[in-house]
Amino acid sequence: MRMAQVVFEGVSKTFPRPSGEAVRAVKDLCLTIHDGEIVVLAGPSGCGKSTTLRLLAGLEDPTSGTIAIDGRVVNAIEPRDRDVAMVFQNCALYPHLTVYENLAFPLLLRKRPRDEIERRVRATATTLELTRLLERMPDALSGGERQRVAVGRAMVRQPKVFLYDEPLSNLDAGLRLRMRVELKRLHEQLGTTTLYVTHDQVEAIAMGRRLAVMKDGAIQQAAEPLDVYRRPANLFVAQFIGSPPMNLFPGAIEMGGSGVMFRPAPPPQGDTPAGAPLPVARAHRAALSAYAGRPVVLGLRPEEIVFDGGLARGPDGVRVNARAEAVERLGAETHLHGSIGGIRFTARSGADCPLGPGQTVSVWLDLDRACYFDGASGRAIG
Ligand code: ATP
Repeated sequence: MRMAQVVFEGVSKTFPRPSGEAVRAVKDLCLTIHDGEIVVLAGPSGCGKSTTLRLLAGLEDPTSGTIAIDGRVVNAIEPRDRDVAMVFQNCALYPHLTVYENLAFPLLLRKRPRDEIERRVRATATTLELTRLLERMPDALSGGERQRVAVGRAMVRQPKVFLYDEPLSNLDAGLRLRMRVELKRLHEQLGTTTLYVTHDQVEAIAMGRRLAVMKDGAIQQAAEPLDVYRRPANLFVAQFIGSPPMNLFPGAIEMGGSGVMFRPAPPPQGDTPAGAPLPVARAHRAALSAYAGRPVVLGLRPEEIVFDGGLARGPDGVRVNARAEAVERLGAETHLHGSIGGIRFTARSGADCPLGPGQTVSVWLDLDRACYFDGASGRAIG
């Protein structure tokens, strides 16, 4: 097993534009991918993910900063000498070569001895369950099989670092799910240091041990996926990670006789009165008391708004009236689209949710697990 640590230190990449105005695709990136770790880099289209990957592969030169693999700065090292292998969204196989020959190709290029090529191709085929396909031509393979050969072609070289650039984007939903599990299993087995780029937030949470969320060329948060989900660093991350996204209620903090309260802002249109003030749960009180009189945004994940038919709940939540507007039954779960004090939200509940549109219902808000954000900067509070 070959391992390597990757370190980006203050890396920026600026592309000149013919109009004169430059694009800062990557801004002052600092990121370490530890030996054997898989880090997922996620963010919307154009945020700089592919550029980051291409900088590590050596296909772009940084404008400033350093990139090191295994303690060696690689800025001036040619792509083919960096010992990284990349799998793209559209990995074209050589159409006139069999699967075996496609897998052997990178080793032939490196002039490896024939018996070593045979051994490594067979081992790769075993790992990826391609053995029975070795004599096939690429046009006789399914989409998933082709993508597995593309992964095999990267793997056969036994690189220090794997780079995946949206490798599953072109596959249908079922196959994407299967390949996701397969790539994860492969990583567990090989333990090769990996940077995995995706714009798909479900894949981002599922694939990585660590998730880095990027926006406008800058990393917004890098942490364990569930930490990012539960404690997003700012409003952008809160909305990008999670489907349906986190519900956001703008408002302000008030200090009164009943302690620290969140007063929801009135809805932007219509004549619906704003919802009643909500008590801030114990866990958040100290941090939010510094925000008295200032705008904040309350964030609740869809599963933290619970339609439970009035069952008793924990001490730090609160019960409010909501209007159910639409009900989407998705099989294992139901999404309820409704409003509280005129502000729209989506709640997630079980398969057998009895509600229908137009009903007024009592919902329980799990304020203990809520997130609060600074209304001016968008940063998480506390
Ligand atoms: P996507 O998910 O759509 O592939 P991305 O997050 O990978 O997006 P990048 O491809 O890294 O984004 O692009 C980041 C920014 O840099 C974009 O504004 C893009 O237009 C710009 N950019 C990328 N490559 C070049 C280039 N060769 N010349 C000029 N601008 C570029």
